[in-house]
Amino acid sequence: MDWIKINDTTFSYKDMGVRFFLLIGTEYALLIDSGMKTENAKELAAQVTSQPVKLFNTHADPDHIAGNGAFDEVMMNPAELVNYPKPHTSQNILPVYDGDIIDIGNRPLKAIALPGHTPGSTALLDINSGMLFSGDPVQDGKIFMFGPLRDLSAYILSLKRLLTFSGEITGIYPCHGTCPVSMEIIPKLLEGAERIERGEAASKPIEFFGNKAAAYDIGTAVLLCDE
Ligand SMILES: [Zn+2]
Repeated sequence: MDWIKINDTTFSYKDMGVRFFLLIGTEYALLIDSGMKTENAKELAAQVTSQPVKLFNTHADPDHIAGNGAFDEVMMNPAELVNYPKPHTSQNILPVYDGDIIDIGNRPLKAIALPGHTPGSTALLDINSGMLFSGDPVQDGKIFMFGPLRDLSAYILSLKRLLTFSGEITGIYPCHGTCPVSMEIIPKLLEGAERIERGEAASKPIEFFGNKAAAYDIGTAVLLCDE
């Protein structure tokens, strides 16, 4: 079994360079994203829980949705639909807006919209434990910020707002890089992103999937931005 147990009701699964999570409540289990190459995330979930399994997407970049086709319903911020190729036409989108609570049974999860990396990027805060499942915006790996759907200014505003939840967050569980990371990463990412926005940060040119981008190593993470 490749699941990593974080605690009795929280698991993560590493799929290539990305991880997805499984949170178990008393009513159902929630997958947070569904993988990059792994197409059977729903079946894998059955290895650790007998609860029905539902799916929430932090966002719809290709490395987070490989197993989406197994679900007739997907919870997602509707702002992300511009980035989501539906795996089948009958799939229902259950909209999740900023501030919404997803209660999986004695386990309320609060949606915190973090636009910028993608328009509908949304984190879930496990209110009881203070664990934040941040998706891609808050992590110490490579943060993709180039291409038409990315917005550095929105990203900066999202990080500033996330700081207002400091008192509620005990640890951050991102989809890439180190897991968990502490809250201290947020002001560091913010400071670096603001330096990039002001044109004060140095970058190196790189090519990624045939796209040219500027890689800004801000110490705590690398932001890949438009040239
Ligand atoms: Zn990703």
